[in-house]
Amino acid sequence: METANPAKPAVQGEQAEQKHRLFFALWPDDTVRAQIAAAAHAVCKRPVAEANLHLTLRFLGMQDEAALQCFRDVAGQVQGEPFGLVLDRYGGFERKRIQWLGTSAPPAALSGLVSSLNRALEACGIEAETRPFVPHVTLSRKAKKPVTAAIPEVIRWAVDDFVLVESVSTPDGVRYVILERWAL
Ligand code: ATP
Ligand code: MG
Repeated sequence: METANPAKPAVQGEQAEQKHRLFFALWPDDTVRAQIAAAAHAVCKRPVAEANLHLTLRFLGMQDEAALQCFRDVAGQVQGEPFGLVLDRYGGFERKRIQWLGTSAPPAALSGLVSSLNRALEACGIEAETRPFVPHVTLSRKAKKPVTAAIPEVIRWAVDDFVLVESVSTPDGVRYVILERWAL
């Protein structure tokens, strides 16, 4: 005779599927992270939590397990060289009320990395990005105005890998979890 299994979910299939809010990013090491945090605290009223500072390469949004597996598979084919990134200016996206830290000299290797990543992601059904890529580390959201000050000290970031990140929403705000890392 069959007995009911209380551990078995009542609803299976689509509703049981896990979705993940994902993005590819450059993840600063602790030294560069502390320098970026200092640059944020110098000008922002409510800076992003230090642990959350990053540079988004490509935002993917909510994705299912199959898509996540595809991203992990294709990221290994991405072509890229290590490069130096000089963070030397504040900026802002006024419409989105974001204050950020960026560079006056975006390295060719960074745009090359983003292009290669976007090409690879097409195999997973992610459409080509049409908007121009503006490399930036978000320092503050819901800000009143963009920062016009000069940055206290130029930050030199030696980039030699990139990561796939899951954005997890918690009662205390968003938390980012690195799922996988690829060397350049
Ligand atoms: P919150 O949305 O709670 O303010 P957040 O923006 O840090 O937090 P996510 O919305 O998960 O977290 O975004 C993760 C990263 O992707 C951030 O760097 C964010 O700026 C960037 N991002 C989010 N949405 C988009 C989008 N539509 N296009 C490009 N980048 C995006
Ligand atoms: Mg967001």
